[in-house]
Amino acid sequence: MSVMKERETTCGPPPEPGIPPIECRNLWKIYGARDQEALAAMKKENLNKEQVLERFGCGVGVVDASFSVNQGEIFCIMGLSGSGKSTLVRHVNRLIDPTAGSVLIEGQDINQMSFEQLRQVRSQKIGMVFQNMALLPHKNVRQNVAFSLELRHISREERNRVAQKALETVHLAEWGESYPDELSGGMQQRVGLARALAADPGILLMDEPFSALDPLIRRQLQDQFLELSEKMNKTTLFITHDLDEAIRIGNRIAIMKDGVLVQIGTPEEIVTHPADAYVADFVAGISRLHLVYAQTVMKGPEYFEKNHPGVSLENCPESTPDADLDTLIDIMVGTDKKYISIMDCGQCVGVVTRGALLRGIQGKETSIEGV
Ligand code: ADP
Ligand code: MG
Repeated sequence: MSVMKERETTCGPPPEPGIPPIECRNLWKIYGARDQEALAAMKKENLNKEQVLERFGCGVGVVDASFSVNQGEIFCIMGLSGSGKSTLVRHVNRLIDPTAGSVLIEGQDINQMSFEQLRQVRSQKIGMVFQNMALLPHKNVRQNVAFSLELRHISREERNRVAQKALETVHLAEWGESYPDELSGGMQQRVGLARALAADPGILLMDEPFSALDPLIRRQLQDQFLELSEKMNKTTLFITHDLDEAIRIGNRIAIMKDGVLVQIGTPEEIVTHPADAYVADFVAGISRLHLVYAQTVMKGPEYFEKNHPGVSLENCPESTPDADLDTLIDIMVGTDKKYISIMDCGQCVGVVTRGALLRGIQGKETSIEGV
């Protein structure tokens, strides 16, 4: 029996195009006996976390979070410890119930599902990877990866085949017979990932999967995960407290503070247009070289003409709107011209001046006035 096939028959047809795999709508989580009272007061009086604790003895986990994750996307949630990231992600496979709001998986409200539907969604549609994967110490690596399939009564032969394939995916094909304590921390996390992948879920929830690892290993795992993710077209909700990691991994990032999603955007949007002083502080140390593109720093052709009357762009080097600052620097260093024409489909759509490029690197002037 093929695991893939079983997924199709027991979980129904794939979702209709356009329906996001994950969607949270006005999700709230307040911990404590007086959670509904606290919720009403927060909505009415805009109380902060400390005030809620003081007045109601309740902890604030998530505050009115709304977002959706698109098919194939890696959506990062980044915030300091205690900001509510784990609380948020645990709603997505209903490990916890919200105080208010809803979570839709492929358009279906997970909190309205029957026990049986929920069991199927958890075992077949959603895989989860934690910071410290608790591998079963008395089972070998392959048996650990195959464990969820064992629970689903899939034959030994089939589950070993699937587990071996998952181990190959994370470059641990040779380690199936070993026991968890023979593996390094990084390898154990990869076993955890293989375990999540074994059931071939469409959605991956990853709660700080690489946070406990040394920086070098962490980077290797990030690269491996990105490569894998491109191949497999999974939808991933990735939690991290590390902005660098979020920027490396995420197609989009949500910045979380005290339970609130203060900004959602692409890495470039967040770095060039931080929503408030808190985000600005966070992104202040981030290098813009690979995050900011020509289209953001260029001036429109009319604006350029108006401000540089008589200047000809003939013989100036050319580039494209999606060239990053790093590429533009290389071009500018290799020419004695002061301008780069930005071309799209044979047409000049903008001009990057030396000044605009330097300002773009500085992050001081990134407006697209005149475009
Ligand atoms: P993060 O994953 O970003 O570190 P958490 O989601 O673990 O944050 O925690 C968010 C807030 O919710 C914290 O203030 C934490 O103390 C509180 N919290 C988390 N889990 C519980 C719980 N089971 N009971 C009460 N408060 C909790
Ligand atoms: Mg956490």
